[in-house]
Amino acid sequence: MRIGLEVHVALPTKSKLFCSCSADAQEPNTAICPICLGFPGSKPMLNEEALHSSLNIANALHCKINKNTYFLRKVYFYPDLPKSYQITQLDGCVGLGGYVQLEKKKVRIRRVQIEEDPAKIIREDDYCLLDFNRSGIPLNEIVTEPDIESEEELREFVNELRSILYYAGVDIDKEMKADLNISLGTERVEIKNVTGIKNLIDATRYESKRQSELLSHNQNIKKETRSYSAESMSTVSSREKETDEEYGFIYEPDLAVYNTDGIGVLKPQIVSDIAKGYAEKYAASKETLKELVMFDKESLRLLEYGVERSKIGTVISAISLLKRTGSTSMSNDNFGKMLEYMNKGMLLNEDTIKALEQNRKVEVEKGAVSSEEIDKAIKELISQRPDLVKEYKTNPKAFNFIVGIILKRYKVSPKYVSERLAEALR
Ligand SMILES: [Zn+2]
Repeated sequence: MRIGLEVHVALPTKSKLFCSCSADAQEPNTAICPICLGFPGSKPMLNEEALHSSLNIANALHCKINKNTYFLRKVYFYPDLPKSYQITQLDGCVGLGGYVQLEKKKVRIRRVQIEEDPAKIIREDDYCLLDFNRSGIPLNEIVTEPDIESEEELREFVNELRSILYYAGVDIDKEMKADLNISLGTERVEIKNVTGIKNLIDATRYESKRQSELLSHNQNIKKETRSYSAESMSTVSSREKETDEEYGFIYEPDLAVYNTDGIGVLKPQIVSDIAKGYAEKYAASKETLKELVMFDKESLRLLEYGVERSKIGTVISAISLLKRTGSTSMSNDNFGKMLEYMNKGMLLNEDTIKALEQNRKVEVEKGAVSSEEIDKAIKELISQRPDLVKEYKTNPKAFNFIVGIILKRYKVSPKYVSERLAEALR
């Protein structure tokens, strides 16, 4: 199986791609102007924020940045596109020839380009409504080579891409649209406009099954465009796809050629590489590290701060604890203090973490319990209540009862108390 993707994500800009209309208006047709309505004589102006954002993405995907980037008109007629062409890019696109590194292979990126979104069509029973708020929203298209060869690789790729884009300022978990090229035989089938990560995986599973059944019955797979229905979880044949020639691409004369030389790009954060580096340097689990920081800038900041100052095991426990207790605003300094407490064997809970976040040191000192204190309490309880220990040997439920007694006295993690009690009863 060979899979190639064209992933479309909205660039995080305040205004649209070629005009100053807001990019996140709610009421239909309130953020519109002659430019994004495609009136004759209106002239587009490139939103530099969109260009910078797309350059950051191209750079994070290891693409070669085009020194001169320019736009084309992709000519076709559709009601969501009153000027009869979409402004997009092709060979003069922002980035070319990059890759996403997976565990065992590279998935090559053919190109990264900017284009405008058309208006939104809302279909009713016997008529359509158009919302031009979406017309001219800046999109970034990421086109891969057909290097993905299984559902597992697709999952891994999407997860990696999502993390890279998250650190480049774009969250595709919220909204992602993809065209999926998939071929088991010689002809490729394109599935258009699949929305969301789950649907992408489901569509792939359905389509690979459909094609493999055709092949096993010695039937041909037709080169065609299909669409995916999330309701029936299946794909159906749709219109024949136009070729590039039929789109009649021409240069967009209203926009300049943009020189990208002087534009600075953000240093990309590739979490898989960062986790791999730390895992090797400090002998920790790469998977654990990845899970902590894949989609979490705050946790990555704390990890980078913490590993310089403490054992990585404590840093991982501290970040996991912050995630569990829903803490979101720990400063580096306070995180350093938290590591000190934990290294001294002190146990922190939701209340003490909150006190630490708000610099209420006395309350932290009062609320934090040392692990020795818990061990001592467990030991005392065991010697005072031989009846419970005896019952525990025949009835495992007594174990939770003993944990409950300790938790009544100390507000610490039940998991920790269970571990210490199991140890003491061994
Ligand atoms: Zn506008």
